[in-house]
Parts: sequence; structure tokens; C-alpha cells
Amino acid sequence: MTASDIGDAPGDLTGTVTGTLDPGPDPPSATPTHCPYCALQCGMNVGGRPVTVTPRSDVPANAGGLCQKGWTAAEMLTVPDRLTTPLMRAHLGAPLEPCSWDEALDRIAAEVGRLQEMYGPDAVGVFGGGGLTNEKAYQLGKFARIALRTSQIDYNGRFCMSSAAAALNRAFGMDRGLPVPITDLAQADTILLVGGNVAETMPPFMRHLIDQKAAGGSLIVVDPRRTSTARQADLHLQPTPGTDLALANGLLHLALVEGYVDEGYVAERTSGFDTVHTVINAYWPDRVERITGVPVPHMREAVRMLTRDRVLILTARGAEQHAAGTDTVTAFINLALALGLPGREGSGYGCLTGQGNGQGGREHGQKADQLPGYRKIDDPAARAHVAAVWGVDPQILPGPGRSAYELLAALGTDTGPRALLLFGSNPVVSAPRARSVEERINALDFLVVADFVLSETATRADVVLPSAQWAEESGTMTNLEGRVLRRRQAVPPPDGVRTDLEILSELAGRLSAPGRWSTDPAEVFEELRAASAGGVADYSGITYERIEAEGGVFWPCPAEDHPGTPRPFLDRFATPDGRARFTPVEHRGAAEEVDADYPVYLTTGRVLAHYQSGAQTRRIDPLVAASPDPFVELHPDLADRLGITEGMDVLVTSRRGAAVVRARLTDTIRHDTVFMPFHWAGSGRANSLTNPALDPVSRMPEFKVCAVRLEPALDGVSER
Ligand code: SF4
Repeated sequence: MTASDIGDAPGDLTGTVTGTLDPGPDPPSATPTHCPYCALQCGMNVGGRPVTVTPRSDVPANAGGLCQKGWTAAEMLTVPDRLTTPLMRAHLGAPLEPCSWDEALDRIAAEVGRLQEMYGPDAVGVFGGGGLTNEKAYQLGKFARIALRTSQIDYNGRFCMSSAAAALNRAFGMDRGLPVPITDLAQADTILLVGGNVAETMPPFMRHLIDQKAAGGSLIVVDPRRTSTARQADLHLQPTPGTDLALANGLLHLALVEGYVDEGYVAERTSGFDTVHTVINAYWPDRVERITGVPVPHMREAVRMLTRDRVLILTARGAEQHAAGTDTVTAFINLALALGLPGREGSGYGCLTGQGNGQGGREHGQKADQLPGYRKIDDPAARAHVAAVWGVDPQILPGPGRSAYELLAALGTDTGPRALLLFGSNPVVSAPRARSVEERINALDFLVVADFVLSETATRADVVLPSAQWAEESGTMTNLEGRVLRRRQAVPPPDGVRTDLEILSELAGRLSAPGRWSTDPAEVFEELRAASAGGVADYSGITYERIEAEGGVFWPCPAEDHPGTPRPFLDRFATPDGRARFTPVEHRGAAEEVDADYPVYLTTGRVLAHYQSGAQTRRIDPLVAASPDPFVELHPDLADRLGITEGMDVLVTSRRGAAVVRARLTDTIRHDTVFMPFHWAGSGRANSLTNPALDPVSRMPEFKVCAVRLEPALDGVSER
């Protein structure tokens, strides 16, 4: 692997603005900020005329590297179909027409009032996004609870890593993605990466793995596909989709049998090991090989590699996006605990957050069951604290609402919301069983979408509000390390565009909401600090000035003279007794197994050039040129059996829908499994197929495995 592979060089992807909007007055010279996309939050300088992006070398996460998406991020500011005026339908079935901000906001307030008067506060729902700044996520949660007084709020981060969050809370009492600064990875003797293809999803991350390898470290990758990340591994375990939990239990069984369990650590720092020990007895190697397809010698080799001094076990979406996602992550945490890793210098268990502010977005009140500071909404003390900051009676705060998929599935039903306000999300493409979600959205009485373009979801809205983008706004983001960073405004938003904070403030005023509704991110952050004080995710010691001076501050940080917490758990875990908790978990397979009608596993994921629902990246020419179309990746032997050849249009069908995509043959995938990226809408939409079976704890859907059948698409492209 070379430097350009991991994004050091722009090549022909210069990031130069090519859109048609007038970029306005000269921006100041380059402003240091961060990438709009993933949780690595690469540092970049943004500025010039036309606006360009260059990487920052002072940010440890990327240290001078960017991927294609980062290099071209400036083009997003001036995409030709950028919205610069609100749009509204005069009535059901009428087209979206430009209108004034007052007309749009008055209409929203009137419809909210009308529907809540008829059906109660929960008639209006709110759906947020894991890309929103901490300030916006905080304000959106507050808006739902005290302006709308609805319990019906959740966000697309529920689809991203909520299973890891649930498992982290279960084991350690705290959900912080990485337990160490990212630069610690280079010193690890062994890294076990489960279900993460960082070479494609966050390429500059690879430099940390390359440094680790150069220092003599080893990498184990668990993935059903031999991805570009797996190709860098010293050992690649390629299990059947949906069997990671059994693999983790099998590795723990071997660690027990071969005497690798750190008994001193288990006795001093953990509880519940005996209950796990009993369960693990049933995961003898031959049985685990039968379940997972991973050869016993490979499992033995993995366990041996995990017994070195500094070891990190990391999971990502491949382990988490399952109906048993929380238990799957728990199984890997059990393995880490048995080996004595969490809370040991340079070692531990961590989860790789996906979305730009996936970490911060889930800490400050967008989740259905949470208040700011990672507080539980059904905890009386938490309600009293947050209500005092907001200046309201705790009695008016609603209780927990529905999780993301359950909220979407209830839209327009007798018991669900009749209206939805949606910020920073495109569920028509990104939600599982998307055809049905589309129908639920169409059944709403009233839909409001704030976005920078007419996404596939926004085209269905009654009111569309043009909102500012990353380089046009200020705030904070919390990256995958748990480091709170400053997003700085580099350019003004185009005329006619408003920030989400301005939109929420205007709506709160029209709804006569109590409390303060500042449009200044710095003021909102001050309020967030107070609201989070004393919570698990305590930001009260973090200030904009400290972030600037220190290059970011790790939470928890409970006082301004507190150094922040780059390595939590060195002394104690965040549980009441300070011990980490083992929890016994059993393999139970995929929610939908293959059968005679649907004989092949489908797994979904991302590609290098695109991000999430593609609403941003599908508008950027160099990224479209790099990856123009949806596709299905399958093994040549499977293709041969099905009469499918390279480049052929293939009809992929599951019990929930169908998609037509081009065949890509590769021997890097299992014979029984196909892969589809989920960035596209229409007939190539992977989420038309996916299974919304939910994890019972995290309520995360099973994006990573379902049963499908494939056949040549004789009738061309047609969506069912
Ligand atoms: Fe870095 Fe992620 Fe942005 Fe790529 S998309 S430049 S990896 S933050």
C-alpha cells in the first residue's frame, strides 16, 4: 500500500469548486476545520476563491491525509441543485414551489399546532442525524422535548453503532468509541478488527495500521469479504455472515482451554466471569468451525496473536448491524476482558464510529431514551437536572419514544406521528426495508425536511427548508476517539440559506416554547456544557478556547482544570462498583437464514467514493466518475451456477423487495454471500432488500445479513 492509496495525494481530485452559484465575497484565507463526512473527522483547511480543501497535518487522525471524499468536499458547497429558498406545497398533490421563510415557518407552526391539537403532542415526530454538530443535536433534542413536547424523536445514528453503544454501556458503564487516542494504534502488538473496512470507509485511518505494521505489529481482520483492509491483514478470518458472535465465543473458549485468561485481572477488575465460563464451554473449536466456516487452525492462530502485550479489539458495523448486534459486541468485549485488555495501557476494546458526529450525536439528546450528557430520560434526577438548565418543570418533559426504525414504521398510522420534522437524514435511501418506509413517509399528513438539496426524502416533503452546510457553520464535533473538535465557519452560507439553529429558534418562537433559543453555536455549547454536567458524557469542562488551544479535548471532562480523558478505565470502569461486567451471550444466527427460495446471504456496506445515502457524494462529479452505479459483488462460481456474467444486470430479490444492479465478479467474497453498497436510490437501492429485524437492546436493524436470490434481469432495470 502506498501513500496515495490512503489519500495523501489529490491526483486530479483538487476539490476546486465547479458549481454554478456565485461563491460570494472572498472568504478569509484558509480556515482550519474538519471534513463533513465520517467520524475520523480529518482536519482540513478550507478557503480561497474558488473554495478549495487542503489537508491539515496538525490533526492526529489524518496527519496530512484525506480520502477522495475529503478532497472533493468543497464541491458540495456549490452543487448545481443547491437549495437557496424554502419550498412548499400549497396542498396535497401540488408541486413544491418557492416561498418565503416566513411563509414556510408559519405553515410549519400552524400544521404542528393543528395536528397536536387533534391528536396530542406525539402527533409530531422528529428525526435527526449523526452528522449534526453537538450544538444542533442538543438543540434538536431540546426542541422536541420542550417546544413540541413530543416523545417521538430519534435519529439515523441508531442505524450506525447503537449496538456497540449498548454493549459498551452494559460492560463498562460508558459508551466511548475508542478507549485510546488513535495514535496509540501504532504501538499495538496486535489489532483485531471485526467487520470494518477502513481502507474504503476512512482511508487515512490506514496510516495508523501501516505504522503499526512497520513497528512489528500484527493485524487480524474478521470479514466475510476479502476487502482492501483484509488484504493488509496478517490473518483474515472469513466467517459466514451472522456468525461473529459464535466466533468470539469460540476464541474465548480457546483462550480458556489454552490458559490465556488473565485470572488476576478478572478477579480484580471484573464481575460475572463464572456465568460466561459456563456458556463458553459449549463453543468447542470444531463446533465453532461448523457454525462460522472459520478453520480451527486460524482460530488458534488468532488467539495466540491476541496474547501479546498491547492488544486492541475493535468492532465496526459488520459486528453491530445485526439483530444480535449488542450480544455480538458483548462477546468480543468478554474476550477482551478475559484477556485483561480494557483499562490496560495501550490495550482495550473499542468501536469504530461511522458517521461524522456519530459519537457526539448520541450523547446529547437526539436518542429516544436520552437527555443531554448521556442521561436516561426516565431517570428522575436526570430529568430534574436538565429541566433546570432549560428553565422548565421536569413534569413537562416527555418520556422515552420509539427507536428510529420503529418511529419510521409508525408514521401515518393510527398510533404514530402524523407529521415529521427531519434534519440531516435521508431515510428513503438509508432505512431498512426502505420501500415500506417510503410508504409510511408518503402516508404522513405533513413532512418537513431541512437539507441542502432535494434528497429522495425531501422530494416527498410538504415544506423544504434550505440549510447551511459544514463549511458554512460553526460548532463542535466529537470524533471516533471521543475527542471534541471545533468545526469552524470557512465561508458564509449562500443568500437565502439558514442554519439549523436559526430554523429551530424561529420555530420555537412561533410555538411559544419556553427557554432560550440562541442561534449562536457558542452560546448553545455553553448551555450544553451545563446540561451535560454530572452526566456520563460530561462536557462541562470543555470550552471552545480549550479545544482551540489543545487541538481537541477528550470527554468526559468535568471541570475546566480537568485534562480530559483520552484513556478511560485505567483506574476503574464507569459502573457503580468500578468493575467491568461480563455478560453471557449465545449464538442465535441471523434473523433470516437462507433457504430454498432465498439461498444466498446478502451483506451491505459502503464504497470508497460514497458516503451513507449518497445525497452528498452522488452530486460530486469526481466521486460519481469513480463509482457511478450500484452493483452486486458475487463469487465467479456462484455467478456461473446462476448464469450471471460480469457486467450483467442482475435482479436481486428478498422477501421485502427487489433491486436491479450490475454484476461484479470477484473471488474475494464467500461462495454463499453477495455484497451490495447502500448509497443509491431507485432500482439499485440495497435497502429495498434489507431486513428490519431489530436488536432487542439497541433497536438497531439487521442491515448486515438477509436472504436473497439472484437471477439475470431479463427485463432490464425495473423496481418492484
Ligand atoms: Fe477523512 Fe472520513 Fe473525510 Fe475521508 S470522509 S477525508 S476519511 S473524515
